[in-house]
Amino acid sequence: MESGGANAAATASDRCAERGICCHSPARRATLSLVTTSTLPSASAATRYEAVIGIECHVQLRTASKMFCGCSTDFQDARPNSHTCPVCLAMPGTLPVINRQAVRHVLATGIAIGATIPAVTRWDRKNYFYPDLPKGYQISQYDLPLAEHGTLTVDTSAGPFTVGITRAHLEEDTARLGHVVLDDGRPASLVDFNRAGTPLLEIVTDPVIRTAEQARRYAEELRLLLVTIGASDAAMEDGQMRVEANVSLRPVGTEAFGTRIEVKNMNSFRSVERAIEFEIERQTRALETGEPLIQETRGWDDDRGVTYRMRVKESSDDYRYFPDPDLPPLRVDGGWLETIRVAMPELPAARRERYVTELGLAPADAVTIVAGGSDYFERAVSSRPGLDARRTASLYTEVGLRAVKGDPTLLEQRDPAELGRVSQLTTAGELTGANAKEAYQRHLETGETIDAIVAAAGYQRISDAGALRTIVEGVLAANPAAVADVQAGKAQAMGFLTGQVMKQTRGQADAATVGALLRELLGQG
Ligand code: ADP
Ligand code: MG
Ligand code: ZN
Repeated sequence: MESGGANAAATASDRCAERGICCHSPARRATLSLVTTSTLPSASAATRYEAVIGIECHVQLRTASKMFCGCSTDFQDARPNSHTCPVCLAMPGTLPVINRQAVRHVLATGIAIGATIPAVTRWDRKNYFYPDLPKGYQISQYDLPLAEHGTLTVDTSAGPFTVGITRAHLEEDTARLGHVVLDDGRPASLVDFNRAGTPLLEIVTDPVIRTAEQARRYAEELRLLLVTIGASDAAMEDGQMRVEANVSLRPVGTEAFGTRIEVKNMNSFRSVERAIEFEIERQTRALETGEPLIQETRGWDDDRGVTYRMRVKESSDDYRYFPDPDLPPLRVDGGWLETIRVAMPELPAARRERYVTELGLAPADAVTIVAGGSDYFERAVSSRPGLDARRTASLYTEVGLRAVKGDPTLLEQRDPAELGRVSQLTTAGELTGANAKEAYQRHLETGETIDAIVAAAGYQRISDAGALRTIVEGVLAANPAAVADVQAGKAQAMGFLTGQVMKQTRGQADAATVGALLRELLGQG
């Protein structure tokens, strides 16, 4: 179910706000119900209430054509209304034809979250009137969705947390509205039907989430899963994945749910977390002061860091759901389901597990590496036999991921075997750790091979104790203050002196030999 309700009286701005596709901001700003954060709820109030959170997520599926017609979904740079046909424009007498690939993506998602796939599912009409919906109803699924009762386990700062997933179903997206002012000053709304009828997956969780962090982590893990199985590109900033959070509070130790507020318009994972944190504080304050809470839909204003009222929520009765007479119930063939199951790629949870048990990575590194997609890392590790996976992982997280600000897709132009090479040279003792990082960094920047970089820079490890002793002695003589600090027991001064030696040797000194020499010459053990 698309969240929220529609009724004949819903205004344009209400509806647009609900879909998060346009902005009547002047009107909306006027009705902002701002709450300042200067009166934070007391710590005791915060512990008297428990948050109850459920997440609804809409995801644009990756298909070549639309959900019920043959129009291409590749309309990113296309002229408005150029990707339309009688079916998605709702001409009388046309009939929908189900997109097999879209169904496949939902079934794969269902399998990946361990959901039950009912033998028969049904299509329903969700009726409402609004210009973004040419038929006057949206084809969706009501009481017989394609997948039910799944779970997704996420890592949080408090440990693993399992989110129950109520359902995942398939529906069609709406047209896009744009609001403009005409030359003569009149306001006008423009409709672009290119997006109308494109396949949309909706995934709804049980109301089992308790913290904003759990909600953010759930959304991140869901995105990773969908990208991994190829169901969607799920870019939040492009609206390919739209997260809505339902938040209510109840006194700790009670069962009954409190009044639910739905929050939407978050366009990043960080804003999902911030919006929920804000709602929990706002609702706590309301309960403390006896201010009534009403079931409503609120929007998230990222700049101000607040939620604001969009509209009072309707119930699903208003949609007059009924089975679509144009589409027979869908029977999912068991053999097909099995084919999808067998073709399933390694899922993120299994990959993290394998990195820990087989590659010996620290669990936190496994989480970091798998988070953004880890095909590059995979190929680096398997590029040469016998590579030290932990060393490869640390070069990758400390240099590789940092260089691309955590987005490993930017590493696609680089050959993963070069990461394997730099890791191998380090393990073989031909490069120091510091030079390895430098060489890898330079490779990422320029695309030159590691071997070429090493040859040009003249990198080699200086482990000859005699040569190093002279350098270390020179550094000690030049830094009497640091020497005094070490002797006074200040451990940081030791790091400073090591750094000076590394600087003089351009990072080529063997760190263990330098450490031993420093301790010997300073009489530190
Ligand atoms: P709708 O489609 O009208 O938004 P749903 O019944 O599909 O309603 O619920 C939407 C989401 O709200 C689900 O994730 C559900 O777990 C969650 N939810 C339901 N009741 C509450 C509540 N009182 N507090 C917080 N979340 C809730
Ligand atoms: Mg909802
Ligand atoms: Zn069409």
